[in-house]
Amino acid sequence: MERESLLLLLMTLLGGLALQPFVWWPFGGAAKLAPMQLERRSWRRLWYPLVPPLLVAAWLCGWALREPDPVSDPLGRWVLGAACAPFGLIFARAAGRAVWSLLRDPIDCGVSTVGLIQPQVVFSPFLAKRLDDGVIRAALAHERAHAIHRDPLRIWLAQLVTDLQWPWPWAAKRLEVWLEALELARDDEARAEGADGADLAAAVLESVRYLERITTVPPDMRLTGTQLAHARLIGDAGALRKRVSRLLTPLPQDPCGSSAGAERAGLLLIPLLLTALVLGTVYGERVMRLLLGMTS
Ligand SMILES: [Zn+2]
Repeated sequence: MERESLLLLLMTLLGGLALQPFVWWPFGGAAKLAPMQLERRSWRRLWYPLVPPLLVAAWLCGWALREPDPVSDPLGRWVLGAACAPFGLIFARAAGRAVWSLLRDPIDCGVSTVGLIQPQVVFSPFLAKRLDDGVIRAALAHERAHAIHRDPLRIWLAQLVTDLQWPWPWAAKRLEVWLEALELARDDEARAEGADGADLAAAVLESVRYLERITTVPPDMRLTGTQLAHARLIGDAGALRKRVSRLLTPLPQDPCGSSAGAERAGLLLIPLLLTALVLGTVYGERVMRLLLGMTS
């Protein structure tokens, strides 16, 4: 079999197997952290289950570097293809939904931030004419915070990571916890930049009323089961009560918290992947001979 074809099949099979024990990773929504810290921690938790499959993929790349092309495959293309079909279908579904979320017609969300590479704030003129200047400024501050952090791209990636772990409910719960923390964090950021909490709460509530007027589908149902590729002002409508009551209380003294630990955790992945790649080149053939009876 061609080396690259075999590598792809093995990545799908072994990567999919490596992912399964980690889809249970706790979502940790009850932590008493500042929203910006909780957002960063929830973001990392979305990605932790993907670390083992990435290490497996790096290790397999290391193994493939030392293999001849074509490579001997004692199991055969069809046996391997059938073994990795369940994971292949899940991965294909995730990729299809990710592409569809980019191609579909945009939904009118009242106020939202769209664009993966160069995010832009979209403000419905029909909603804007119902709002005072201060309320509009508060809504724009919230959306500008989404744009600064490239949240449409992050939301799109988070949905893709969640879809890769379909159909397990823990991944969807991790996404839900992160999206809720994301909105609270952007609220705090907007307020730290001078937006008034009461104005922001008014913008959120008026957006909800606007969405109820333009559609028969309740605002929270517009998110459920829908692929996401944009950040909205109202976020998850299920968390609205908590969010509005937070906006009407004073902003905490240190809304940002520390991010040093998060940056260190992200940097650890690079040496881990390189180590897996090197181990693959050194021990790959021996392990594959034991696993699949392969000879070069
Ligand atoms: Zn938002």
